[in-house]
Amino acid sequence: FNVPVPINEPVKGYAPGSKEKLELQQELQRLKKLELDIPMHIGGEEVRTSNLKRISPPHDHQRTLGHFHYGDASHVTQAIDAALAARTAWAEMPWEHRAAIFLKAADLLAGPYRARINAATMLAQSKNAFQAEIDAACELIDFFRFNVHFMRQVYEQQPESLPGMWNRLEQRPLEGFVFALTPFNFTSIAANLPSSVAMMGNVVVWKPADTQVYSAQVLMELFEEAGVPVGVINLIYADGPVVGDVVFKHRDFAGIHFTGSTKVFQTIWQEIGQNIASYKSYPRIVGETGGKDFILAHPSAHAKAVAVGISRGAFEYQGQKCSAASRVYLPSNLADEILGYVKEDLASFKMGDVEDFGNFINAVIDERSFDKLAKYLDGAKADPNAEIIAGGGYDKSKGYFIEPTVIVAKDPKYITMCDELFGPVVTVYVYDADKFEEALELVDSTSPYALTGAIFSQDRYAIDLASKKLIHAAGNFYINDKPTGAVVGQQPFGGARASGTNDKAGSILNLLRWVSPRAIKETF
Ligand code: GLU
Repeated sequence: FNVPVPINEPVKGYAPGSKEKLELQQELQRLKKLELDIPMHIGGEEVRTSNLKRISPPHDHQRTLGHFHYGDASHVTQAIDAALAARTAWAEMPWEHRAAIFLKAADLLAGPYRARINAATMLAQSKNAFQAEIDAACELIDFFRFNVHFMRQVYEQQPESLPGMWNRLEQRPLEGFVFALTPFNFTSIAANLPSSVAMMGNVVVWKPADTQVYSAQVLMELFEEAGVPVGVINLIYADGPVVGDVVFKHRDFAGIHFTGSTKVFQTIWQEIGQNIASYKSYPRIVGETGGKDFILAHPSAHAKAVAVGISRGAFEYQGQKCSAASRVYLPSNLADEILGYVKEDLASFKMGDVEDFGNFINAVIDERSFDKLAKYLDGAKADPNAEIIAGGGYDKSKGYFIEPTVIVAKDPKYITMCDELFGPVVTVYVYDADKFEEALELVDSTSPYALTGAIFSQDRYAIDLASKKLIHAAGNFYINDKPTGAVVGQQPFGGARASGTNDKAGSILNLLRWVSPRAIKETF
C-alpha cells in the first residue's frame, strides 16, 4: 500500500463565468429552496426528536435553511453504546482499509461533494466562496490525504531487533470511545477532529457546534458514502453540559479532541480530573483553544506588506479564525503610512450576503457574538484611551453585520488589546521606534495565549531577536506574512500556553495521540 506523498489540493478561483462558479451558484439556489430536516446519526440510524432547532444564515437571519433534531442525555448514551458496539471490528480492520476509506472521502470531496460542502458552509456559517473553498474543500481534502500519509509513518515506525529476537510496536487504538467537540469556524476542523481519531482505529461520539450543524450533516453523508462503518462516527446535537455530564462520567471515555474556547476546555479538563479514578485509562486530552494573535512590525518593515498582513490577517472570515490578527504593534516611524494603506484596503472591502461573490466581509456567526462585539465597539467609542480610525458601525436588522474596524489604543493593555473578541476588530498600539525591545516584551506579556503571531522586518538581526524573545509567544510564527492560513503539510497548526495542547493538527504528532502502543518482544 504505497501512498504517494500528497500534494495540496489546488484552490479553485471561482472566476466570473467559470464552470465551478456556475455549479456553486446552482447549489446555493438548490439549498435555499429546501427546508432541510436534519437528524442525528447514531449507529447508522437517523434519530429524530420533538425538540427542533431552526437554522438560518447569519447574514439573513429571517430566512430558514432547515431544522435539526436536538437530543438529550439518552441520545448521548445511545451514541456511546453504538460506538462501543462498533469498536472491536473497526479496531481489528487493517489500517490500509481504514486509510482507503478516507482517501475515498478526499476524492468524493474534491469531486461530487465540493459544491455542496462549500455552499452549505457559505450559507450557514456566512463564509464567502473563497474562504469556504480553502476551508471546507481544500483544507479538508488535505487533512484526509496528509493524515493517511502520516498514518502510514505511525504504523511503520518499528524498533530495532537484535539476533535471536523480534521486537515490534503494535499501535493499538485507545480502549474506549473518543469524544470530538468541534467549532463553527472551520468545516475542515469540524470534520478533521472526529475523522483523524477514527482513522487510527478509534470510535467516536461527535458533537458539532449548533451553528455548524448544516455543513456537519453533509460531512456525515460524506463519511457514510466513503465507507466509514456504522457506529464508528456518531453525530449528536445537544447542549454541551448535558453531553459532558454523560461523556465525562463514562468508564470507557478514552479521550477528547477539541477545538473551541479556552474556558470550555478548562472546565472539561477539570471535569475529567474529577472523574479520573473511574476511567479504564488516563484519557487523551487534545485541544486547540483561544488566541490573541499579534502582528509586530519592526522599524525596518515594508509598510505595504504589513498593511496587507493586517487587512487579510485580521478581517478574512470576519476575524473569526483562531489565528486572526487582533493586536498589532506598529513602530512610530511607519504607523501613519501603514494605517493609511489599511484604511484604503478597508474602503475597498464590500460587506454583505455570501451570494454576491464580490463581498469580502459577511456576517458574524450569531446574535451573541454580534452583541458582544457591539459592546466592545461602544466601549471604544466612549473611551478616551481608544480611537476608532476605520469602521465601528454595526447593524443586525437583516444579518449580524459588524464593519471591519481598526481601533488605535493609547494604552498597550487597553481591553481590546487583551480580550479575545473573535470578530472583525483589530487594535493597534504605536510604539516608539527606538524601543523595539520594549515592544517585544509587550507582545510576549500582554496575552495568556500563544497561537499565532507575525513579525515584519527587513532586518535579519531583528527577525532573529524576535524569534528568540517570542519563542513561547506563538505555536505558528510567521515572518513577513500574515498569521492566518496555515496549510496542511506545510505549517502544522497549533499553539501552547492558553491556546491549547499544541498537538499540531494535520501532523504525525496529532495522530500519535490517538494510539496506545504495545511493545512486543519475542525471543527465538
Ligand atoms: N488553521 C487556521 C489558520 O491557520 C486557523 C484554525 C482555527 O481558527 O482554529 O488560519
